Amino acid sequence: MIQSIRGFRDILPGESRLWHGIEETARALFADFGFQEIRLPILEKTALFARSIGETTDIVEKEMYTFADRKGDLVTLRPEATASVVRAYMQHKLYAGDPFRKLFTIGPMFRRERPQKGRYRQFYQINAEVFGADSPLIDAQLVFMLTTLFSRLGVSNTSAHINSLGCPVCRPAFKAALTAYAGDVEACLCADCRRRKAENPLRLLDCKVPSCRKAMEKAPDMVTYLCPDCRAHFQRFTAALTALGVPHVRDPRLVRGLDYYTRSTFEIQTRALGAQNAVAGGGRYDGLMKALGGPDIPATGFAVGFDRLVEVVKKDMKTPDPGPEVFIAALGRESQDKALEWICRMNEMGISAEMDFGHRGLKAQMKRADRLKARYTIILGDAELASEKVVLRDMAAAEQETVPFSMVIQTVAERVGRP
Ligand code: AMP
Repeated sequence: MIQSIRGFRDILPGESRLWHGIEETARALFADFGFQEIRLPILEKTALFARSIGETTDIVEKEMYTFADRKGDLVTLRPEATASVVRAYMQHKLYAGDPFRKLFTIGPMFRRERPQKGRYRQFYQINAEVFGADSPLIDAQLVFMLTTLFSRLGVSNTSAHINSLGCPVCRPAFKAALTAYAGDVEACLCADCRRRKAENPLRLLDCKVPSCRKAMEKAPDMVTYLCPDCRAHFQRFTAALTALGVPHVRDPRLVRGLDYYTRSTFEIQTRALGAQNAVAGGGRYDGLMKALGGPDIPATGFAVGFDRLVEVVKKDMKTPDPGPEVFIAALGRESQDKALEWICRMNEMGISAEMDFGHRGLKAQMKRADRLKARYTIILGDAELASEKVVLRDMAAAEQETVPFSMVIQTVAERVGRP
């Protein structure tokens, strides 16, 4: 039997309700905070990611699903959404008139990472991006929005970690200092870090290998290298978070794996998940649009890991699937025809009604109604067909009433509160 691909999984019915609930909460949140949805393709030209994410990142170096299509053009299953949102914003000139835009998108991403709990090769993200504002206040609003999302989902135990990555003015000196420091501790670094220390030394700060972590403990701190503008930006960001009552900690190791991030960067962590503790991450990427050949428009945003959010919410929430409002146990061909008519009419009215489409006996059908946790049941057999009356039974209250055929739909609608 053919199985799914490693790292790719099915979201089964019991769990999909939870996904749906989270998505609804996120959509309501975006409406409240003035974000509009953008829907994007899953496949993009490889060059988009290579240029925006950066050739020396893990994602581009080893995690992308890239292949040549039938004409030989290199295409990639998107590993993240930001590059695509930026591409669409530029391609459709969404900056014409007023460049300020708040956009969100929800969908699958693909990275060929080593699968483990909380890490998949197809995973889902909720993305929010704001274009056309360089103010640290919008960064603060994004973090506030994330904490609002978590509190609306009933998730406690989260904390906001923040840092500044500087800008093209001040970052080069910091990178040079990091590379020099890495040279001093080179013997203790993993092979990846040794290779990267010249090209992308920021990555050394968030390497998870214990010996690297230890070696980088006394590494230079970006905040001491910030230019006056970046320093003022960061101070206003933290002051706004404090004023909004968002608990936050400064984390000098918080860097982004993606090259285009500048200034404010943040991550929401939770203690509920073990090793994969980041549920959301984001920050500013003021230089990306220009680097992609577009206008020089500042941008900031975040990505929430949907799969991890589901794990966290699952710990705090029990939502059993509700059973049908009414189940019709129909015996025989003619009864089944009648039952089909009733359930379809009720379904059409928004009542969840179910019947048995097989050839089971009454006992088996009633057992099924019980297992499905049906609120009401109706038995429909030869006697009922002859009298044109059925018994409508309220399962929880163990009460029943006799209803003529002509009144069945109306009576059920009244009982379930949809007259
Ligand atoms: P990133 O785009 O790497 O900044 O990731 C943003 C968020 O997406 C992370 O905080 C995770 O919650 C989630 N995420 C990233 N990679 C994976 C993955 N392979 N599987 C599941 N969730 C992921």
